[in-house]
Amino acid sequence: MSKTINFFNTASRAVEEFRPIRAGEVGIYSCGPTVYDRAHIGNLRAYVFVDTLYRFLKASGYAVKWVMNITDIDDKTLQRADKEGRTLKEVTEKYSALFVSDLKALNISVADIQFIKATEHFTEMRALVDSLLEKGYAYKASDGIYFDISKFKAYGQFANFAPNLATSKERIKNDNYDKENVSDFVLWKFDKRYPQGRPGWHIECSAMSARYLGQPFDIHTGGVDLIFPHHQNEIAQTKAATGKDLARYWLHNEHLLVGGEKMAKSKNNFYTLAEVKKRGFSPLALRLELLKAHYRSKLDFSWRSLEGSAILLTNLRRFYALSSLGKKDNPTSAEKERKYFQEFLGTLSNDLNVPEALAGVQKTLNEEELGVWGASFLKKVDAVLGLGIAFTTPQAVKNALKDMDHARSGGDFTYSDKIRKELLRKGYNAENTNLGSIVFPRA
Ligand SMILES: [Zn+2]
Repeated sequence: MSKTINFFNTASRAVEEFRPIRAGEVGIYSCGPTVYDRAHIGNLRAYVFVDTLYRFLKASGYAVKWVMNITDIDDKTLQRADKEGRTLKEVTEKYSALFVSDLKALNISVADIQFIKATEHFTEMRALVDSLLEKGYAYKASDGIYFDISKFKAYGQFANFAPNLATSKERIKNDNYDKENVSDFVLWKFDKRYPQGRPGWHIECSAMSARYLGQPFDIHTGGVDLIFPHHQNEIAQTKAATGKDLARYWLHNEHLLVGGEKMAKSKNNFYTLAEVKKRGFSPLALRLELLKAHYRSKLDFSWRSLEGSAILLTNLRRFYALSSLGKKDNPTSAEKERKYFQEFLGTLSNDLNVPEALAGVQKTLNEEELGVWGASFLKKVDAVLGLGIAFTTPQAVKNALKDMDHARSGGDFTYSDKIRKELLRKGYNAENTNLGSIVFPRA
């Protein structure tokens, strides 16, 4: 286990030392997507952030269990199914698959995430709602079961405001509302299509996180826009029903902006990953772009800035290829590798400061004489950042490089140039250096 790790905890609005509930183990719950449409890159920022957090904790020696819910039943998904003239399952499965393929393209550790669907956990949710009814925190109305916020004294505390209960007489049927309209929120909806009723959005996360991670669990993540009402409501439900806290540490990532405004479906100012690829960028260049700012800072997206990230990533891969050709290891190189990687983890231990850790890596690469140790250092760094810096070269590409070298040394520069251009077309830069020839994928 490495040294102290600190995170900014939204619950206390302070940086706190991270102490897991069980030594050596961490449970993470991430609010996942509502699968009624394609995700945009602003949504994806949240998952790149958690994946990097997950990889960092693993590199720091923890066994991490990562759970993510899929909201596959709510007003939006049901409306979408009606609009497309298909069943709810058809629609939500289609958008879940698109979501997971976006995550895969961004090198998010999909195989390690336990995805859990709302539709498969009605029993757990209903049990929680019944317990709230029993304890007097919930009541039945004509269209559903509501949480009575006046019964929960700390309502608003997590989101840092005091609700004006005198003016909040109306009930909120929708799952999304703002602080101006604070009111009793829906836990369970009566719906003709579902004889037993169906859940509101917030109850999902309280019921499912408890089942898979216990209560409390270590880390709850989400975008800042989930602090209120979603996370405030999760906290109220769980505490009221069980007397226990939901989670210990609440980590929230900031918005992705476009031209200074929040990227949002409702504003129609969003881009999807498909568009990023269409413009010739690799998804991993976007991953680097999303990691360039600290997760708690807003980040203004532009194509120009993305281009800068693509160049930087290609350059990091070039360093990796070059160091693989570098001097063989000696006793001091193992020492160097250890020292620089510990520095890297140390910087990340400070509330996952990726921008500073990345700057540290660049400094090392610029100042140190690179040997094979550099390649193994970058491999470890890449296991945390997930950028494909430590790439593997397909055999066909290796062969082409050999042919290129052969042609060049035989003086056939026309042929060697032809191979170089072919590699370029396939997405690889080939370069002849004084250490030998290298080939690396462009981002
Ligand atoms: Zn949630």
